[in-house]
Amino acid sequence: MGGSSLEWVGMTGEEPLERNPLVPDSKRYWCYRCKAHNEFDHLTWRTYRANSDDTYEKMSCVRCQASMFNPARTKPVMVGLLGFTLVALFVGLVLGGDFVPPSLLFAAFSGLIGFMMLYYMNLWWSWSRRQRSKSAEQLEQEGRQYIVLIEKE
Ligand SMILES: [Zn+2]
Repeated sequence: MGGSSLEWVGMTGEEPLERNPLVPDSKRYWCYRCKAHNEFDHLTWRTYRANSDDTYEKMSCVRCQASMFNPARTKPVMVGLLGFTLVALFVGLVLGGDFVPPSLLFAAFSGLIGFMMLYYMNLWWSWSRRQRSKSAEQLEQEGRQYIVLIEKE
């Protein structure tokens, strides 16, 4: 048996990026316009109305101000909404009569938001698939170029 030697191939001599914005991480906020895990401003505001005061929040991409989302947190909400849509449709169909209009209304409402989330999740899935097919070296290189690009802007 010949001895095998492990050869360590260093990246480029530089320290690897600690947080590469181009490496998909479903737990981090992602900008669908920039297609990157950019830094963001966490904006919150409240609205005071008759019986409610709602707090809204937005993760605003520092680069393009688009609203960013967290894929890991969005997915279960999306699944829940789409599931609810199916149940509402089913209930309307089974019970019929007076139950049809309200169940259609519920289904339309949850379906609209659910499919909107599905649209953004699809952007995320196709991007992360594309990124994962690249080599670590390539991602590292692209990440560096991207960071330089942002700093220039
Ligand atoms: Zn952006």
